[in-house]
Amino acid sequence: MFMIKRRHGKRLGIYVHIPFCASKCSYCDFYSYVPKSAGVYSKHIDTLIRHMESYKAACADYSPDTVYIGGGTPTVLPPEDFLRLIKAIKHNFHLQKYPEFTVEANPKTVDFETLTRYRRAGVNRLSMGLQSANKAELEALGRIHTPADFEESFRAAREAKITNINIDLMYGIPYQTYRSFMNSLQFTLRLKPEHISIYGLKLEQGTPLAASVASGAYPMPSDEMQFAMYRDAIDILAKNGYVQYEISNFARPGFECRHNIKYWRCDEYLGFGPGAHSYFNGYRFSFKRSISSYMRGVNYVSKEEMTDENEIIPLRERVGEYIMLRMRMTSGVDSREFFRLFGKDFTRTYGKKLERFVPGGYVKVENGVYSFTPAGMFVSNYILSEVLSFNADGTFMLE
Ligand code: SF4
Repeated sequence: MFMIKRRHGKRLGIYVHIPFCASKCSYCDFYSYVPKSAGVYSKHIDTLIRHMESYKAACADYSPDTVYIGGGTPTVLPPEDFLRLIKAIKHNFHLQKYPEFTVEANPKTVDFETLTRYRRAGVNRLSMGLQSANKAELEALGRIHTPADFEESFRAAREAKITNINIDLMYGIPYQTYRSFMNSLQFTLRLKPEHISIYGLKLEQGTPLAASVASGAYPMPSDEMQFAMYRDAIDILAKNGYVQYEISNFARPGFECRHNIKYWRCDEYLGFGPGAHSYFNGYRFSFKRSISSYMRGVNYVSKEEMTDENEIIPLRERVGEYIMLRMRMTSGVDSREFFRLFGKDFTRTYGKKLERFVPGGYVKVENGVYSFTPAGMFVSNYILSEVLSFNADGTFMLE
């Protein structure tokens, strides 16, 4: 008689950080760099594999349902190293039968043959950065691809039978006009991806782009124009069958990113690689943004060497974090669930403060559920800082 092996473990997301890129974009402050020698690729994979092996026992009761390999640009890895990584993930964790398995990919780093091999190994979702379909805007961002390169890579992914693809777009880019943004959106829609993410460009301190903008080198779209781009994109995407489920994320029904939803729902996830964050077993921890600290930490088994923060989250921070993350999603905060989780009345505390933003059209309250309207999403950071009280040291004050 056959025994069917079932996977009943607790759900978990696995994140793997590959900190390498083909070149550094001018706006980017992620932990990523262009390696001087290709030897570092396989050393990093060796380290990741060793690190995963050390978690095998701690994860025995878990059955991960999402895997996300991000970066950096994971697709700059030589295919043999990439396939070794996938094999190690499958070997060390009891993955669910149909996990969502995402890889971040950039145009010019993927082709039909390699993607076919990755798909056969288990990859079933790609996230591709377009950002803009306008050449001048792409150059200002320091992206190495043209719109034509992007289209070619996207079509290669389709030919390789990858049936779940996200495209990243940006608004608020130097030189961008309302019209050029709409052209980029139409370019994206023509490709018919399953998922679209639209981010506002953040000028991160210390990046070359932030310095150029501060020096007045670039014409920038005004805040009003950026809001119009975001607001109208939500409408256009809805008309094309993409449902907004988070501030920046839109999907055809059934194609919401299950891995990212874990972050916003405060579910458990385990990160590997320099700069990776985890929320596991009640602990939140992250690794230093340094590949050498990470390698030394894993290879010489020195947690202090590689770990940045390691803490059990106190209730007051969990509440603040819960509200901040849940309000990012269009499903918002349900006051009944809040009471079940924290034993506190949301409507009389934070809900009351959120209601101040209802007349202006920023917040809606329906049946005990508080959520942002599109206008509210655009200024969500400001509203949340008004609603959540922070101490002088940046920690959150419980109502
Ligand atoms: S490709 Fe992505 S991770 Fe790499 S430099 Fe550009 S924005 Fe940063």
